[in-house]
Amino acid sequence: MSETIAVIPGDGIGREVVPAAVRILDELDLGLSFVMGEAGDDTRSDTGEALPDRTVRLVENSDATLFGAAGETAADVILPLRAAVGSFANIRPARAYPGVDAVKPETDLVFIRENTEGVYAGIENEIEPGITTLTRVVTDDASRRIARFGFDYAAERDDPVTVAHKANVMRATDGQFLESIDGVAEERDAEYDTALMDALAMQLIMQPEEYGVVLCPNLAGDMLSDLAAGLVGGLGLLPSANIGAENALFEPVHGSAPDIAGEGIANPTATVLSTAMMLEHLGYDDTGTRVRAAVEETLEQGPHTPDLGGSASTEDMTSAIINRL
Ligand code: ATP
Ligand code: MG
Repeated sequence: MSETIAVIPGDGIGREVVPAAVRILDELDLGLSFVMGEAGDDTRSDTGEALPDRTVRLVENSDATLFGAAGETAADVILPLRAAVGSFANIRPARAYPGVDAVKPETDLVFIRENTEGVYAGIENEIEPGITTLTRVVTDDASRRIARFGFDYAAERDDPVTVAHKANVMRATDGQFLESIDGVAEERDAEYDTALMDALAMQLIMQPEEYGVVLCPNLAGDMLSDLAAGLVGGLGLLPSANIGAENALFEPVHGSAPDIAGEGIANPTATVLSTAMMLEHLGYDDTGTRVRAAVEETLEQGPHTPDLGGSASTEDMTSAIINRL
């Protein structure tokens, strides 16, 4: 069984960290086939479209996609790509690693973000110049689906579940989110806590060790997972998976990082860990574990890219990971 992986580096450091991950995949010699796809700012300059149809087809017809980042065109690229894989859940683990300076070394969190609704459903309007609106969508179906996924994930890790919300203000929409999740919890006899997302932002900084899986509406998941990146040593470390019923897309949480793009110093960790998540998703559990172990050893012993306080290049760090595989 040889799976086809769509590989879309995109813009900025995506073009540095995705090839690093592909080097590692090549080394593993799993017989995967890689098909390169184009998307992002440069693709728009070249073709007039940030996300050409053929890239969408490629993603739809692949077994999984590895994506880097898109710059200014991010919303035009990543939101349709997440939709192309039918992704309803965005998994964002944020944990601290020995060897990397972290504000809170006890942090070991996984954000499970609802990926189809909330304010990201994209229903925005300009009523007239100076007056704009945004419509949120929250449905019972999507909220139950993310709840089932989140409770399963937490059960596997033996983690507590915290549901982030702001139902005291957004009574209808976040109220629905809570009600649906409560329905699923009741069916399964699962335990969980709820937390107002503003208070949770503070608690996550003060006592991240108290939390495990954090189940979030779309925008809250985006913001709280970046906050958690700050706890563990930066965006260069955080992987993510966009999971659909039959397809999935894996990408670092960070963006195109134009401030360091082209210098060859981007930290490959986030993308390599996203690749480990992809391998596990495809059923290569042992290989995923091996990749993770090689990354962890490299984080502990170096070499480190500048964001981690070192002076290694992307290539140096990638070679070190490969040597430890
Ligand atoms: P975008 O609009 O594409 O999201 P951005 O300017 O928001 O771009 P991010 O990629 O989100 O940039 O990164 C935010 C900060 O974190 C930048 O200073 C960037 O250099 C740093 N950063 C992000 N990813 C990495 C990485 N892999 N290695 C090193 N530094 C990184
Ligand atoms: Mg950004």
